[in-house]
Amino acid sequence: MEKARERIPVVAANWKMNKTCAETVNFLSQFLYMVEDVNAQVEVLVFPPFTALRSATTFLQAEKPRKIFPEIGAQNMHWEDSGAFTGEISPLMLKELGIHHVIIGHSERRNLFKEDENSILKKVEAAIRHQMTPIICVGEKFQEREEGLTEEVVKNQLLSILQLFKKTEFTDFMIAYEPVWAIGTGVAASPEDASDVCRYIRALIGSIISPDVAAKVRILYGGSVDVKNFRDFILEPDIDGGLVGTSSLDLKKFVELVKIAGNYG
Ligand code: PEP
Repeated sequence: MEKARERIPVVAANWKMNKTCAETVNFLSQFLYMVEDVNAQVEVLVFPPFTALRSATTFLQAEKPRKIFPEIGAQNMHWEDSGAFTGEISPLMLKELGIHHVIIGHSERRNLFKEDENSILKKVEAAIRHQMTPIICVGEKFQEREEGLTEEVVKNQLLSILQLFKKTEFTDFMIAYEPVWAIGTGVAASPEDASDVCRYIRALIGSIISPDVAAKVRILYGGSVDVKNFRDFILEPDIDGGLVGTSSLDLKKFVELVKIAGNYG
């Protein structure tokens, strides 16, 4: 049965530490060519490494807008506008490049770079201050899932963030539910399990912020999404798209994912 779409589906490519400037522009130019005739409503977000952001936005500015047209986002940012933070990139620097989307709290940032809830909250605060759309990543580790703690973990990761949004008028954000054990492993969650967690997240947004915001926010699933399993995720009523790592690096697969999200493939 075809799903009635209340929310525009999103396909977001998290390239992590992959692709040079030249590879990024080459990918985007071929992508535009390959989706030229695709008449579907899909929001496509591409998150290249920082070094390729300027090339990507400059390239896209010179292209004709069309039905499917990627927006470029950043994989991370610091919460301050400037200062003595060696190696960091500020929201102002991203805004200058025309960047309006930023991934915050990806599990690789949390686990490999020791980002904690406090710094993630400050980043979300900075995104709100700069009217940028954060894609806030949450998800449990394998052991936590085994212990039946998934909802508790996700709730703890989201509570102060949702309370922060409640205090502002700005509620343009997305949540990516990414079970840590499914990221880059080739073992995805089942669509039913992912959907249960996404439904739980939506209910949490409804109870903390408002039912209106809960109905509007896009909740994505991430973790070993590929062309074989994506349709099943996207058919779930509470899953509005995918945050995709590995499969987004391959142009043909990425185009296919975009078509699937638009019910075109
Ligand atoms: C990710 O990095 O957000 C991700 C989901 O990666 P992969 O698709 O490779 O599991």
